[in-house]
Parts: sequence; C-alpha cells; structure tokens
Amino acid sequence: MLFKHSNFTKTEIQKFADLIQNSNYVYAITGAGISTNAGIPDLQHLSGHTSSSLSSESSLESDPAKFYQGFHQIFIDPIFENGPTFSHRALAQLETQGKLSGVITTNVDYLHELAGSKNVADIWYSLNTNYCINCGRNYDIKILEQTLPTCPSCGGLISPGPVYHHIGIDNQAYQKANRWMDEADLVITLGSNGYYSNINSQATVVNINNKRNDFDQRANLNLRGDTDEIMKELMEELMEELEN
Ligand SMILES: [Zn+2]
Repeated sequence: MLFKHSNFTKTEIQKFADLIQNSNYVYAITGAGISTNAGIPDLQHLSGHTSSSLSSESSLESDPAKFYQGFHQIFIDPIFENGPTFSHRALAQLETQGKLSGVITTNVDYLHELAGSKNVADIWYSLNTNYCINCGRNYDIKILEQTLPTCPSCGGLISPGPVYHHIGIDNQAYQKANRWMDEADLVITLGSNGYYSNINSQATVVNINNKRNDFDQRANLNLRGDTDEIMKELMEELMEELEN
C-alpha cells in the first residue's frame, strides 16, 4: 500500500519499526525540515539578505527594533505560538521509552527540549542561551518573548545565543555528538540537509525527508514524505507491535 501524499509504504514503516526495536544505540540527526511544520522556514529558502541579517550581530546593534521584528517573525512567534511538531514530540517519547539515546540538531529553535527531549546536542547553539551585550549575563529562551529583549539587570541589549556566537559550532555539543555517532548502531535523519554527518560506517541509516538530500546515498532506508506523517505511522506501528 502506498500512502496518499507520500512515497513510503507500510512495509517500509514496518522495517523502520523493526530497526528501532532491534538496535541498541539509536540516535537522531535533525535539521530545518523537522521544524517547517511548526512554521519556521528553512533558512535556505529565505533570501540571503534575510538570513544573513538575522545572523549578524552588527545588524542587531545598528537597528535592534528592526532585527527583533524579523527575528520574532521567523523564530520566536512560531516557537511560542505553535510549539514542537509531532515529530519533535515523537522523538521525546521514544527517548522516554528507552528507544532513542539522543538527538543531534543543527536547528537553533530549542523545540526538541520544549518537546521534552533530555539528551540533545545543539551543535549550533540554541535560543535557550542569550547574552546581554553590555554585562554578559545570560538568559533562557523566555527573555526572547519581549518585543525588544533587554537585560533585566543593566538594560543592555540581548543577543540571541546563535547570533552572539556568529552561527558557530558549540564545541562541547559537537564533541558529544561525535561520541554518540561513534557508538550508534541506528541513525535516523529527519529533515536534515546534511550539515552534520559524522556517522560511523557500520551504523544503519534511516533517512526521512520530503526531498532528495545528502543522506540518500548513505541511507539503508529512504523514507520520502512529510516527517510528521512518517513519524505518525511509525508510532502507530510501534504501538501495534507492543499490543501483539
Ligand atoms: Zn546586562
């Protein structure tokens, strides 16, 4: 049977479920495609001007109101208004059930943690660490709810963590991700463009994406379709197997 809007089959979902049941160190690598259903656009699809002005501290400092207007529209409003997607919540649930060991993400939206995931490597930092550019104090994601976030202590302007770090790599998270990828026997990629791909050569890879991507060749199973739709089918399949 073929699902209506996608190219994956019931047999492939069963194979996916079996792989999860029969693996010991299952990890996920996620990218922009897991968050588009939360209303956060894939920055690759935004004009260069928009994405570069949203990641530059100089545009923050030269016109804070304009910067935060764009930043709210792209990130903050979807995060607080829509929250985590079905896929974010499914990964958190799999972790709770002991079926998933951790998530590596190149997203900065903090939606995995908001969904309840505990073991997350935010390798490009996340919006849960934000800095006052005047006194250096840091604040969690709640400070970004302000229209123009300022430091409660000194009144200085707040710079979102990923902007403050110039969209650089968080070394601690990156090392953690690499350790996980050394021990992984199953890696699930969801909506990732392949910006992080240090998977050991023995691991089985299931690649979930609605379009062709860098993991197609490496993957043992390619599931083409909407990430939420595929994860819904997976969770139902795992439930059925539990009942039987
Ligand atoms: Zn301050």
